[in-house]
Amino acid sequence: MIAKEIFTATDSALFALFGAALGAVIGSFLNVIIHRVPRGESIVMPRSRCPQCGTAIRPQDNIPVLSYLVLGGRCRACRAPISARYPLVEALTAALFAVAFARVGLTMELAFDLAFIAVVLALIFIDAEHMLLPNAITYPGFIMVLAARTLVPRVDLVNLHGYPLWANSLIGALAGAAFGAGTLWLARVAWRRLRGVEAMGLGDVKMMLMIGAYLGLPRTAVAMFLAFVIGAAVGIAVMFARGERDLQMMLPFGIFLGVGAMVALFFGDALLSWYLQFFF
Ligand SMILES: [Zn+2]
Repeated sequence: MIAKEIFTATDSALFALFGAALGAVIGSFLNVIIHRVPRGESIVMPRSRCPQCGTAIRPQDNIPVLSYLVLGGRCRACRAPISARYPLVEALTAALFAVAFARVGLTMELAFDLAFIAVVLALIFIDAEHMLLPNAITYPGFIMVLAARTLVPRVDLVNLHGYPLWANSLIGALAGAAFGAGTLWLARVAWRRLRGVEAMGLGDVKMMLMIGAYLGLPRTAVAMFLAFVIGAAVGIAVMFARGERDLQMMLPFGIFLGVGAMVALFFGDALLSWYLQFFF
């Protein structure tokens, strides 16, 4: 019995380790997407080059995280510093993939969770660098999550009698999308009324269309609550650090929506039932 438990524990540890390795490789590819998609460049065609000296990066210098450490964060050819974003994205993707492998197990759900994590991470870092959330990612992302919720049904609030599981799942996904995008859109309208200025682009709303559909309404509520709380905390901290008095400043809100979505994906249900226990 004990031997079997140890065997199982080793198994799932190896499984998570495999997830981390896969995540590091996917993270390396996400770095290409993060750099090229906002610039309108192809993500497959040319080999990666140093943005400073243009030297093509050799495969042995392109190993996720490790190459950055070996090279001391500098280009081998010209010694120009490499952005810390590269190892950060690779390590984050590795960590989130490991969590997904450990928590979800080898199912179809896992494949979609990994794709969702990858898309959200790409959006977080593109928004951080460019203050934009490209339609080239949010639109296909929305289609992907609708397909996911049809193929891997998940029923939360909506469970209409007499409808097949996939239909209930799809209706639940659309409810989550409407809630996520609608809440953000209303916040936008309210902010415009209040301040007479545009608070954020529609990219955030489209991002929430995708996140809301994938997470469903209850977990989307958790994601948005976290995004607003973390966003407000960071906003106030930045305001104090810069000595600004005016709340009107540009914060890439997609970062906070993405962080909220990642937490809600894995811990949304647990956080909700913990919260609801105080009322029922
Ligand atoms: Zn260089």
